[in-house]
Amino acid sequence: MNTTVVKAYGSESPEADLKPLKINRREVTPTDVEIDILYCGVCHSDLHFAKNDWGMTQYPVVPGHEIVGKVTKIGQNVDNYKIGDLVAVGCLVDSCRTCNNCKNDLEQYCPEWVGTYGGFDKHLQTNTHGGYSETIVVDKDFVLKVPENLDLAGIAPVLCAGITTWSPLRHWNVGKDSKVAVVGLGGLGHMAIKLAHALGAHVTLFSRSTNKIEDAKSLGADQVVISTDDAQMQSVAGAFDVIIDTVPYVHDLNPYIGTLNTNGTLVVVGYLGPLDPMLVTVPMIMGRKSVAGSLIGGIAETQELLDFCGKHNITSDVEVINIQEINTAYERMLKSDVKYRFVIDMKSIKN
Ligand code: NAP
Ligand code: ZN
Ligand code: ZN
Repeated sequence: MNTTVVKAYGSESPEADLKPLKINRREVTPTDVEIDILYCGVCHSDLHFAKNDWGMTQYPVVPGHEIVGKVTKIGQNVDNYKIGDLVAVGCLVDSCRTCNNCKNDLEQYCPEWVGTYGGFDKHLQTNTHGGYSETIVVDKDFVLKVPENLDLAGIAPVLCAGITTWSPLRHWNVGKDSKVAVVGLGGLGHMAIKLAHALGAHVTLFSRSTNKIEDAKSLGADQVVISTDDAQMQSVAGAFDVIIDTVPYVHDLNPYIGTLNTNGTLVVVGYLGPLDPMLVTVPMIMGRKSVAGSLIGGIAETQELLDFCGKHNITSDVEVINIQEINTAYERMLKSDVKYRFVIDMKSIKN
């Protein structure tokens, strides 16, 4: 298969900084769309992957799964996009299309789903490479339409931070009578607040940081509870129907279970791995409370969210950076020093 060499940024080992790399993009197949990447968001998962936090990274890795760009080429069977269209690509670029999950618009739970980076590209027989690059070639069924009225840099994080919080809000039927809490005010957390607020819910932020209170309120939170303050935690005992927990590292879930109402659910989206300390089952049994997990969202659901954002004028609060600043951005993200998502202006890769 013919390929084109394009500029990218990635890393070659867990210890290494990200640096300029060259990668191959496939020629468009009859069902492919080639996209010139304009903006790419910086997700904490990019950092986990670059540092091999999940023990599954194959190097070199080119992260980036919050992609917004312009169509530059289409295959002969592409009927849903034309050259010049503004489009987006999120965390998925392929799946089996025949399993029950695929048939039910839950491609993210397909056993053969292909991640935008770190997946297996059946065409090139190599790892997939993500959006920290000049271009990407993606099957038309995994390309999304971008609302025309929104800021392009601000849309990019909708593709992961947005859909990862939207999917559980929708699955657990959040609406105007719901009491929702969000743990952690970062990329996912700030989108969770905006989206839950737009769905009409009463929204609470749990944060470790007293200096995020005003920001949280301007994003749509009705109240902020400092999670390290026992009295404040006690004041919201039994309060919430749904909690979206976005914290990226191991932490104690037990104090949050106490803040769930009867039948309430704590949805873990941030941390992958064994819990420490263990969950105490007593309050779960005594109140029919659940702890659940949730992974990104399917293609149809992501398009639903993009359309919702267009209708309600919702974008992410972003700090736009050049690709050359990516290593500093990772260091700042580790310190929770970002308001509230870095987005790379991909023009900078041409420098
Ligand atoms: P982020 O921007 O770094 O935000 C994480 C927030 O969690 C921080 O702002 C901080 O908020 C809080 N936090 C950080 N370290 C903490 C600690 N040790 N203890 C308690 N709170 C802490 O990260 P993100 O991009 O939102 O991603 C969050 C996590 O979701 C990552 O692990 C990422 O890999 C994962 N993720 C999962 C999915 C999925 O499909 N399930 C999709 C995308 C991302 P405060 O300062 O307010 O406490
Ligand atoms: Zn992500
Ligand atoms: Zn499937």
